[in-house]
Amino acid sequence: MNTQIKAAVVTAFQQPLSVETNYELPEPGPNQALVKLVTSGVCHTDLHAAEGDWPVKPSPPFVPGHEGVGEVVAVGPGVTDVKVGDMVGNAWLWSACGSCEYCETGWETLCEQQRNGGYSVDGSFGDHMIVDTRYAARIPEGADPVEVAPVLCAGVTVLKALKRTEARPGQWVAITGIGGLGHIAIQYAKALGLRVAAVDIADEKLELARKHGAEITVNAKNEDPIEAIQKATGGVHGVVVTAVHPAAFGQAIGFARRGGTIVFVGLPAGDFPAPIFDVVLKGLTIRGSIVGTRRDLKEALEFYARGLIHPTVATRPLEEINEVFDEMRQGKIDGRVVIDYR
Ligand code: NAD
Ligand code: ZN
Ligand code: ZN
Repeated sequence: MNTQIKAAVVTAFQQPLSVETNYELPEPGPNQALVKLVTSGVCHTDLHAAEGDWPVKPSPPFVPGHEGVGEVVAVGPGVTDVKVGDMVGNAWLWSACGSCEYCETGWETLCEQQRNGGYSVDGSFGDHMIVDTRYAARIPEGADPVEVAPVLCAGVTVLKALKRTEARPGQWVAITGIGGLGHIAIQYAKALGLRVAAVDIADEKLELARKHGAEITVNAKNEDPIEAIQKATGGVHGVVVTAVHPAAFGQAIGFARRGGTIVFVGLPAGDFPAPIFDVVLKGLTIRGSIVGTRRDLKEALEFYARGLIHPTVATRPLEEINEVFDEMRQGKIDGRVVIDYR
């Protein structure tokens, strides 16, 4: 017995999503629950998914969305770790195998058997979704469902990336790309006691960065960001790159101080040139970082529950998903758009 739901469906890459009212979801199986959605953030990854931007592609038809917050309305056979009425969320790390080398060593985000919310499993751009109860987020009591949604991907991703910079309290980090991820990265960085330099190519984004506590802001369209950051900070200890243009990646290497670490998070299609001489002589570390483990997600939600993180959000109905994607392509969204199903 399937459940028919209203959902925004990718039927073909690079085509508008189709909002359907009779999309079929299976019944929740073992380790699964059916969730009635209240909100869902819209991540740039959802746009990459709908465009088919990446080498490993999802198979249409599918429902994007991996920042969904909702209420459990049914559980599968034998499920006892959540109950009807609990508030839970889906995530990019929808499930993992639990027993491979990566899962066993705290690197479940690298599991080769992982399933991804809104990519290889239907996600939260619908009025209901299925979650794996072992991996679903537990939404803190009293959370505002609109504000907390972006924590489920943007929040955990940037908290993990900041940890991976190995920057310590009092040191400098540069955040490049002040969109959904970047504006939350500034808030986690401040909460961790770091000093923040923010880089984007739009003045409105830099205004948002200052509002959230960036001490230095640089518009990479108007001035040389490497020169500006080196001059203001002497080079940053850590860099988190969330920008959606490959040009920002090679550039970010130049922001670092000797011995610094540059963490790539943004996922635009393409390559970038890296200055071998600088990487070697300055002893730089360049690494990638993909979302976070369940433990990282729990920590990210704890920062939120303590009132330290307030994503800038605006709500939209599901029917406007194609307009939201257009605004995202044009870099016109301030903070995060959250679909409101209420
Ligand atoms: P977004 O659209 O909200 O923000 C992107 C920002 O990049 C915008 O502010 C834009 O102005 C800025 N930008 C564009 N070109 C730039 C440039 N040359 N220099 C500096 N800034 C530039 O997107 P988002 O939801 O924050 O996601 C950002 C990227 O991170 C996407 O590629 C997404 O797929 C990826 N992502 C990765 C992970 C991960 O775990 N690694 C998780 C979530 C999202
Ligand atoms: Zn595994
Ligand atoms: Zn995401």
